Amino acid sequence: MTDSNQKAFPFLKENLSRIEDEITAACQRSGRTRNSVSLMAVTKGHSSSAIQEAASLGLRVFGENRVQEFQRKRAELFGEESSAMSPAPLHADRQFHLIGHLQSNKAARAVEIFSAIDTLDSYRLAERLNQAAANMKCRIPVLLEVKLSHEEAKSGLAPDSAELSELMERLPDLTALELRGLMTVPPYDEDLEAARPYFARLRALRDDLSASYPRLNLADLSMGMSHDFRVAIEEGSTQVRLGTALFGRRPRAH
Ligand SMILES: *Cc1c(COP(=O)(O)O)cnc(C)c1O
Repeated sequence: MTDSNQKAFPFLKENLSRIEDEITAACQRSGRTRNSVSLMAVTKGHSSSAIQEAASLGLRVFGENRVQEFQRKRAELFGEESSAMSPAPLHADRQFHLIGHLQSNKAARAVEIFSAIDTLDSYRLAERLNQAAANMKCRIPVLLEVKLSHEEAKSGLAPDSAELSELMERLPDLTALELRGLMTVPPYDEDLEAARPYFARLRALRDDLSASYPRLNLADLSMGMSHDFRVAIEEGSTQVRLGTALFGRRPRAH
């Protein structure tokens, strides 16, 4: 028997309601209100039906890590013409964030299709994004990605680097960029408590930078993934990025 309404993610609703309870509990433990944390559905590696099914359950913020992959899904969901020159945000009530590393040569395309870039990690990329957004007569929200570990494979600005200071100094002149805060991905560890010091360090770095650069907005802290979001919320996360906890394991390696 085939059902035309058959869902690609039959457990999504159940997963979402369990996650909601866990977010609420973490907020309560840390004396925060539920609406101080938002939930991003990370749909990378899944078909565009992940976006559709999550949207139908009320999710509004989506994370994708590759320009080309999202460009294809976006065309599937919204039609080919939408991937040409329509400025972000695509739909006022839905946000699509880039959460993977962005090469400078793809900056213009990224500004066209994403509503926010959460992985700004160099001055060169900031200039490219600023130019692309200015050309499109829009402003693009950005987060600075900070690398708090010494893993070679990861991107992100080192917290004590000259490049981070340079970016902070020059960001006010890049008027098409709207800085909103910081993001980080701690090293993976099965023990979720291992991530806690990284989350605490990102918050402390934010507080230091806010004191040094009072004109810049650093309100958002994007931190916490499927296995460690409870701890991230306790340490001040304002947006958790969940893939596996919502949709199950990704079919392809990412
Ligand atoms: C893949 C990814 C996530 C989601 O990871 P899960 O463990 O599946 O929740 C979150 N953030 C970033 C930057 C990612 O690349």
